[in-house]
Amino acid sequence: MERFRKLGITEHVLESIQEQKFEKPSEIQEKAIPLVIEGKDVIAGAATGSGKTLVFASAIAKKVERGKGLQALILTPTRELAEQVSKAIQKFSKSKKLEIIAVYGGISINPQIGDLRTADVVVGTPGRMLDHISRGTIRLDRVKILVLDEADRMLDMGFKDDVEKIILECPEKRQTLLFSATIFGEISRMAKKYMIDPVEISAEVYVDPSKMKQVYYEVDDNEKFSLLVHLLKHETSKLAMVFCNTQRNTDFVANNLVSSGINAIGIHGGHSQEKRGRTMHKFSSEYVPVLVCTDVAARGLDIKGVSHVYNYDIPKDSNDYVHRIGRTARAGKEGKVINIVSRRDDENFNRINSHNWKFGIKKEEMPNIERIFIKFRSEGRGRGGFGGREGGFRGGGRGRSYGGGRGGGRSYGGGNRGYSGSGRSYEDRNGGRSYGSGGGGHGDNPNNFRQRKDDGDDNDRGSRSGGGYYNNRKGGRRSFSRGNSRPKGRY
Ligand code: AMP
Repeated sequence: MERFRKLGITEHVLESIQEQKFEKPSEIQEKAIPLVIEGKDVIAGAATGSGKTLVFASAIAKKVERGKGLQALILTPTRELAEQVSKAIQKFSKSKKLEIIAVYGGISINPQIGDLRTADVVVGTPGRMLDHISRGTIRLDRVKILVLDEADRMLDMGFKDDVEKIILECPEKRQTLLFSATIFGEISRMAKKYMIDPVEISAEVYVDPSKMKQVYYEVDDNEKFSLLVHLLKHETSKLAMVFCNTQRNTDFVANNLVSSGINAIGIHGGHSQEKRGRTMHKFSSEYVPVLVCTDVAARGLDIKGVSHVYNYDIPKDSNDYVHRIGRTARAGKEGKVINIVSRRDDENFNRINSHNWKFGIKKEEMPNIERIFIKFRSEGRGRGGFGGREGGFRGGGRGRSYGGGRGGGRSYGGGNRGYSGSGRSYEDRNGGRSYGSGGGGHGDNPNNFRQRKDDGDDNDRGSRSGGGYYNNRKGGRRSFSRGNSRPKGRY
């Protein structure tokens, strides 16, 4: 506790730290807390899992006073993170009885309007915050501390203009704290523009690398799902998170895991807030031990007891990889990261390996697996829902799949079509275009990105939909330095 006290943390926050049984400050806490308590603007290169919440909570707990208007504003990219951060600040500032509210979209605005009248601290997503600003239901003229949490993700999600508008609503004389996994480009520009002599610091994610084992399996595209099922059945895990790159793949994997007898549930930004809340509760309470998710739905979440992280799709970006693996091996616990790498992941996996040589991802031999019969399901009208072996029949060299039977034909056009040819997609509901070809179909929804901002999720652009894997077994075993020998076409 002495080490925390030395950082200048107030006594009542120390009590909460003791209750939460933190033994020593994390790297970011050690470096940043004295600065933020002193009132400096700080740019911290720190991802979730680094212990960053205590950094800004310690400043808030010290400076914000009950009943004197909204004095601290924290902007987060997602609703889940807003909820999580508001609960954490609540804990750290318990004895001050501050009124801390989370403000995000996807739920009724009216109760928030009432709560905002008396709030001392607001944790909000940019979309809903702007909504309150334009209605005149929030006043930011007393904000002393502004925190931009996961700033890189907010910009990635297209919130830049919204964030800037909100910053401009705050008083010029304030303390600004910016947290981001990466600090370059637009983040640096914003920092220069909106912060005063910021001190830049960085720290590692608060996971213990010695406790984290990272492996990969090299598989054919049409073996991915079967291997996942095999591993979920054979690995001894507590909670497992299965990451997919798109909403569509998330639905596909979650539905088929359930059909294969695995107690799994999916979460992504296309789900309502209520559904996301229920899903997270089922997972964190261990009622459903396997969560299939997109990066954004799971970003920043601190769920205890995640022993396994599966990358069903390898992320495009090595920062996303770091965020994903940071879900496990937290706070001294053991964790395992399993990458299921097929030909369509090569480019991404190469990138992750070359950017992060220190990851040390070990290759595992392919076990004997049972091949699973999977469904390409489509909800709503039409004849979706045909089955087939994973990836379907051989699709020739051009990346076209005939995944599982009669999905039939292509569907172009706006609105809700796509995925399974004649069936309706349960994904493309924002009016994006969807081109389905064959049973699995391929998602391409260029309009989603901006429209789904407050849902905070991936855009399914150029996605590889559930069943749309091309099936090319000729290549045999491969090496990751193969380069661009892939066939053209979307997959
Ligand atoms: P954060 O990066 O703030 O989301 O924190 C990630 C997790 O680490 C949360 O579960 C915190 O409760 C926990 N944590 C934060 N600081 C410490 C610490 N000094 N010692 C142990 N656990 C911590």
